[in-house]
This record gives sequence, C-alpha cells and structure tokens, in this order.
Amino acid sequence: MNERRQTGPQRLRIRASSAAESRLRSGHPWLFDESIREQNREGALGELAVIYDRHDRFLAFGLYDPNSPIRVRILHRGKPQTVDAAWWTKRLRECMARREGLFDAQTTGYRIIHGESDGWPGLVLDRYSSAWVLKLYTAAWFPRLRELEELLRQTVLSPGGCLILRLSRNIQDVARTHFQYTEGTFPQPEGAAASNPAAECRQRFLETGLCFEADLVHGQKTGFFLDQRENRRRVEALSAGRVVLNTFSFSGGFSLYAARGGARAATDLDLSEHALANARRNFALNEATPAIARCRHETVQADAFVWLERNRERRFDLVVLDPPSLARREVERSGAIQAYGRLATNGLRALRPGGILVAASCSAHVSRVEFYEAIQLAARKVNRPFSEIERTGHPADHPVAFAEAEYLKCIYLRLT
Ligand code: SAH
Repeated sequence: MNERRQTGPQRLRIRASSAAESRLRSGHPWLFDESIREQNREGALGELAVIYDRHDRFLAFGLYDPNSPIRVRILHRGKPQTVDAAWWTKRLRECMARREGLFDAQTTGYRIIHGESDGWPGLVLDRYSSAWVLKLYTAAWFPRLRELEELLRQTVLSPGGCLILRLSRNIQDVARTHFQYTEGTFPQPEGAAASNPAAECRQRFLETGLCFEADLVHGQKTGFFLDQRENRRRVEALSAGRVVLNTFSFSGGFSLYAARGGARAATDLDLSEHALANARRNFALNEATPAIARCRHETVQADAFVWLERNRERRFDLVVLDPPSLARREVERSGAIQAYGRLATNGLRALRPGGILVAASCSAHVSRVEFYEAIQLAARKVNRPFSEIERTGHPADHPVAFAEAEYLKCIYLRLT
C-alpha cells in the first residue's frame, strides 16, 4: 500500500489483536484503540494506517484518528493498493454504480455515499437536485477535504453546483481549530450560509415527483429524511380515502404522499414550528396536484407523546409514528423500547376499525426484533384484532454492511 501524497519516512504500521484481526477479516470497518497490539510510531489525524496480521502480512488500511476510540476506519482490506486520485474516483464511481437505475428524473434527492457500508467510513454524500451535502462524522477526513472537494467537482457536481459541508456535533470543535474559514468559499462552518454564495439554504428537489424544500445548512441530518422514501411511497399506496395522522412529521413527507394517494385529510404533528412551516410550504409547492389540493391539511405543534394521551377522542384511519432516535446510547435502550410501545398503544387507540398503524424506529441501539416485539405487545394490549401487513428496513441507497449500521425498521399493522 502506498499513498503518493504521503511524505515522511515511514508509513504508519499497526498490528491488531487476533480477535480484532478476525473481525476485520469478516468485514467489520472499525479498529478500536484497545485492539491495537503494536504500532511503529504516533499517527496523525487522517493519515493512512496499514494494518498487518500476526504473520506480518498486509491485512487492511484505513484512516487513522488519534483522538477517537475508533482508531482506524477501514477503507480497504485484501491486497495492497495504491491510493491516489484515481483510486478515490473509482471508489466514488462504485457508489454511483450501486445506485444506477434506482432513481429516475422524478427523484432528485437521494444518498450517493452511505458511510462505512459504501466504503467511505464516517462520510455521507446526499444529492438534492443541483446541491450536494457532504456530511462528515469523523475528523479523520479533515486533511483530505480539499481533495474530496476536487473529486466531487470533477465527478458529480454540475458547473456552478453547490457543495455544502455539514459536520456531526462531536467534531465541530476540532473543525474550528483545523480550518481557516473564508467567507464565500468552501467549506463554511457548520450552520453558516452555503459554500456557494449564490446558493440558497433552502433547496428544492423532487422525490417520486413530489416537490420538497429542505434547509441543507441548518436542517436535521443533511436537510431531509431521505431514508424514509420507500415507507412514504408505501403510505401513499395505503392512503386512499383515509384521514391520516402523521406524528413526528418533520416537513410533512408522509402527509404529502398520503395526500397524493387520496387521503381526505392529513394532520402533521411536530414539536418544531420551523418543521411545520416547512410542511405547509411543501403542501403549497405541490398544490397543482389535484389530490393534494383536495386533501385537508393541518399542522399541530405539540409533543406527540403528550398529544396522543390528551386527544383520545380524535380518530384516524392511518397513523404514522416516526420519532427521532429514542435511544442514542446503549443505556437508553430499555426506556426506548417502552416508549415505542407506549406510542404504538396510543397510535392504535386513535385508529378507527380497519385503520392502519405505521410504526418506525431509527434507533440503532434497539434491534429489529426488540422493536417488532414492542409493537406487537402494544397491539395485543390494546386488545383489538389486527393483522400485520409488512415489515421494512433500509432503502437501497442506505445500504447496511455490518451490524452496527442497521438502524431503520418499520412495521405496518391493520386493524381487522
Ligand atoms: N417522518 C419525517 C421524519 C421525522 S424526524 C419524514 O418523513 O421526513 C423526527 C421529527 O420529530 C423531527 O421533525 C422533530 O422535530 C420531531 N420531534 C422530536 N421530538 C418530538 C416530540 N416529542 N413530539 C413531536 N415531535 C417531535
């Protein structure tokens, strides 16, 4: 393995414990600090580290981070390779090829790079029409940002296209010491105006022919919950003639699909007035679609947990429960499972006979099995006969290559 741009006398060489060695061989993308047996020298942030097995044979290489317990994020395992501009281009093109045929011109918002599972550890790239959001979850990419920008401008960005850098909260302080920000150039600090001064923070794009507006600079994730697209499509197909409650609505994604699918009314419920204002704008953007214009749309700013408890007289024909992650840490797992159950109980109580419950979870710490059990248990507790329609997981542009990467699950129940 050889990185042309790398200077300095010696490459960074690491020997991993035998347990870590077999984990890496089976495709796991992280080497933790405690699994390092030996290292020839101190490594710098973002430097390529080469990992050798116990017989001194090349095993893998990845990005080194001296400040993170995930000390090396694996880029490649197998045979040594030369890492140069062509190598990164090929890797990006592989991600693009994986998505070939998934989206037509009616969908211009989707994920192109989904972190580790796409071979780019701690890095996400989302397209929103002509704007691209690069979101980093590890500072190990910082020294390569210029190179990344160049790569994206050469491969995916249209001339004058807009590139926005977003950073996860845990690396924002490191970024402030690492980058010298200059107004109007890439990158800009998290939360500041877009890199391209001409670009709007509010970007319009299409999803399944629906027009959405997303705030790519300040909005949650990269501005939109692209990962729920397939569930939104399913909800459209289930909504004809129904009165829909969309809890944790964000910018009204599920409601817009429901409306186009023929829902009589849709209520968006969210804690954030900002998100609800976005939902109203999104409805307005699509009012040329007759079914959407016909659908009665209301927004309610409230805590969904409290609102469902207090509004027991309200009845719906389809209820969507899509809360934010309820377990951000392992210790919050059992509380989250209970909260999912409580939500489902209240969601089911709000349904008329024949009603449909769509319950989703994006907590990686709550497993699929635990989540489905919690919902089934809630359904039995409500004591109304039901049948299960479907269970769904990740969409194809959010692939899952190792256990920790799996977070999204959704279950559909119908009262009989
Ligand atoms: N279903 C949405 C994504 C939901 S994201 C979509 O398809 O786009 C989760 C949303 O829950 C966020 O908009 C957040 O503001 C909202 N939220 C968080 N806590 C809440 C609470 N207690 N009650 C209501 N909404 C809440």
